[in-house]
Amino acid sequence: MKEELNPKTKSKKSKTKNFVTNSPEETFELGEKLGESLSGGEIILLSGGLGAGKTLFTKGILNALDFDIDEVTSPSFTLVNLYKTENFDVFHIDFWRLDENSDVAFAVGLDEILEDEKAVVIAEWSERLGRKSFSNPTIYVNIEGDGDDARKIKITQSEASNSN
Ligand code: ADP
Ligand code: MG
Repeated sequence: MKEELNPKTKSKKSKTKNFVTNSPEETFELGEKLGESLSGGEIILLSGGLGAGKTLFTKGILNALDFDIDEVTSPSFTLVNLYKTENFDVFHIDFWRLDENSDVAFAVGLDEILEDEKAVVIAEWSERLGRKSFSNPTIYVNIEGDGDDARKIKITQSEASNSN
């Protein structure tokens, strides 16, 4: 297993915001807000349990990009869905079925995906990536809560790292 080549990239700036959503609509709207802020090249890493709201949040993002959200579904079996919006190629990935000890990024062809300048990556079950870090701007979205409960949503944006 390959080790992380760059264990010393600690000095990256990042900012965290905490939200509480009290309804599915609010979770969707928070996704829309994130969608409106995208400029291309971002990696959005979603984490949180089954039914937390990862797919709903993703639908919010795509709605903000004027994409038909009926086409947005968890790619649990296909692993990757591609949604072409006006400005972006949005790759919706689901790592759920992949083994934590395998190279899950390799399994979905993440490096090739990131060569696409118009790519925006949205990944469900990003816990499976372990501690992998990216040179692209990365947005971590953790959703806590399930059932009818309110959701605590933590969004952390880290700047692109220039280290090599
Ligand atoms: P995941 O992709 O994380 O498995 P889904 O997005 O498929 O989860 O499902 C999330 C579920 O949680 C939906 O049924 C949605 O209505 C519900 N939900 C999302 N946010 C809230 C909230 N703030 N309060 C109550 N229910 C919510
Ligand atoms: Mg899902």
